[in-house]
Amino acid sequence: MEDTEHNHQSPRADVILRSADGHDFRFYKYLLSLASPVFDTMFTLPQPSPSPLLPKSEDTKDGLPVVKLAEEKQVLQRLLGMYHPGFLEKDGKIVSLDEWRQLFNAATKYEMKDVVRSLPWSLESFAEAEPIRVYALATKHGQREIAQKAAFNTLRQPFGEWEFVPELKYITGTDLQKLFCYHVACGKLASSTIESCRQNANILAGSTFSWYTCRSGSSDCKSSGLWWQKVIDELAVALKQKPRGGVLEEGHDLITRTSLAVNDCCICRLKAPADMERFKHEIVTKIDQVISQVS
Ligand SMILES: [Zn+2]
Repeated sequence: MEDTEHNHQSPRADVILRSADGHDFRFYKYLLSLASPVFDTMFTLPQPSPSPLLPKSEDTKDGLPVVKLAEEKQVLQRLLGMYHPGFLEKDGKIVSLDEWRQLFNAATKYEMKDVVRSLPWSLESFAEAEPIRVYALATKHGQREIAQKAAFNTLRQPFGEWEFVPELKYITGTDLQKLFCYHVACGKLASSTIESCRQNANILAGSTFSWYTCRSGSSDCKSSGLWWQKVIDELAVALKQKPRGGVLEEGHDLITRTSLAVNDCCICRLKAPADMERFKHEIVTKIDQVISQVS
């Protein structure tokens, strides 16, 4: 069996935990007993092991008892590292939600209450990459702020396109309905925010843009121009489905379209493309700001 590098530096270890994939961790019964009633019972009561979770092992190595566990090296390393940081590689950061789940399941199995209680806090780091899974897990574990952050990130996808995730089994129909209602409410608010920019951009405090202010009389600029009304129509639909400011930067090519639309106006031709760049930046921020107020 392969020892981890750290194990060679643990002369006071008094037990070896062997992972399912054959890595040996020299550890300390005392720490395990403090961390886990399951291990504590195993170490204090005479064999055979009273716990079906910890089958009695006949193995010894270097004079130390060997306990074979069902978890693989990576999971055990992180679990033990939460009690003895010397076992961690790098910063010990959990790299995926699947790894998080394995760690949580192991901590639950061994009744490591401190780990079970603190692990849900680390869900936040996955709220952007896997928002629906995190929403379900955070809701299950009572982490409302993390669930809210995850819900905010679900807005990047129309809810008709959400894929099934197994973690949905942890939440109730009411929890899921709340997420739908949140999505709909954000969609309405985001589209009404862009609608309010049809005739002016007063919601963007202190900003003026050439297509609102141009007095050249060009048909493309007059009353903000037909082109602009079409842009607003399109963006309102997009924001209803995906109510995040970032959707305005996805495939709408507003700068090019603005340049083409105002090409006949000698005033806007020079000013409007740069103004559109600025408008886009400001409205993206504004929409995310108003949406972040929805709960
Ligand atoms: Zn103009």
